[in-house]
Amino acid sequence: MKAVRINLYSDTQSQPTPAMREAMASAEVGDEQHRLDPSVNKLCHEVTELLGKEDALFLPSGTMCNQISLAVHCGAGDEIIADQSAHIINYEAGGPAVLSRSLVRALDGDCGVFDAEDVQKAIRSNSYHAPRSRLVVVEQTSNRGGGAVWPLSTLQGVAAVAREHGLNLHMDGARLMNAVVASGVPAADFAATVDSLWLDLSKGLGCPVGAVLAGTHEFIDEAWRWKHRVGGAMRQAGIIAAAGSWALANHVERLADDHSNARQFAKRVSEIPGVQLVSEDVQTNLIFFNVSGSQLSAQDISARLREQGVWIGAIDNERMRAVTHLDVSRDDVNEAADRLADVISG
Ligand SMILES: *Cc1c(COP(=O)(O)O)cnc(C)c1O
Repeated sequence: MKAVRINLYSDTQSQPTPAMREAMASAEVGDEQHRLDPSVNKLCHEVTELLGKEDALFLPSGTMCNQISLAVHCGAGDEIIADQSAHIINYEAGGPAVLSRSLVRALDGDCGVFDAEDVQKAIRSNSYHAPRSRLVVVEQTSNRGGGAVWPLSTLQGVAAVAREHGLNLHMDGARLMNAVVASGVPAADFAATVDSLWLDLSKGLGCPVGAVLAGTHEFIDEAWRWKHRVGGAMRQAGIIAAAGSWALANHVERLADDHSNARQFAKRVSEIPGVQLVSEDVQTNLIFFNVSGSQLSAQDISARLREQGVWIGAIDNERMRAVTHLDVSRDDVNEAADRLADVISG
């Protein structure tokens, strides 16, 4: 297999920059489990401030942030309301059934985004026959929804219905900062609509590892217990937390470049006969496109591109997903579109 030159497979594929590595190498560290790691404490403080929450917790991954949050909010037999495309349903190995022993009620939103009325309809009546509706989960941005941004007003509407019925609200903010940069809405405004949320450091922000979960003191206290329970409490974790602080200071505004490159790629791809964008409205750094109008399956196209050093993943037989990030330039997206056109025209 040829070396990958242009990696549009995921924003998790980026390499830490030399400056980030330097920040990591010189980080002050201590025993994180005893809250003695100054770099972890600093990062948690920064995220607390950024999101306007009371407290924050450093965790190894976004998946752990989600699963711990569900476990804190929900108990056995409770029901979680989420979009059918949600990461917690499709990519977390059945975690809700195992860790919080809860059910998930899947809604059919628009590009992963549902509204107050959808939630209202999904909330169970107060009956001994029904599970107890407990939590609403929103994904900012929606991954399988094509990187769609939840508008602030939609979130506020959903939050109002949830509160009225005594449900909590959790935000999977794997790409929260993409939403912030794309919409111009401050992170704290999005955060104010939910009880708990996290942001991933290892997606568009370009860190090697880590995510930070935020909420009330009470919520984070209980999340600490889960962090220990599932083995997520670390030692000299400042080495990786320092990358997070570096990224929050240096890699947020540049997400606008990823969005602009994504729009450019979408434009070029939409001009290739046999290719259709799944959504014309590319708001952030994810581009889904359908290749069923070509003679090849998405998997074949992916394999042929890979032979030329371009990596774009197939979602199924017909659909592919490309993702821009800090290791992908404007020239790269143009070249990737050229190679895609070559492969498709045979
Ligand atoms: C990647 C992702 C996660 C999981 O994050 P990891 O850090 O890879 O565990 C959760 N939700 C969404 C929407 C994601 O894209």
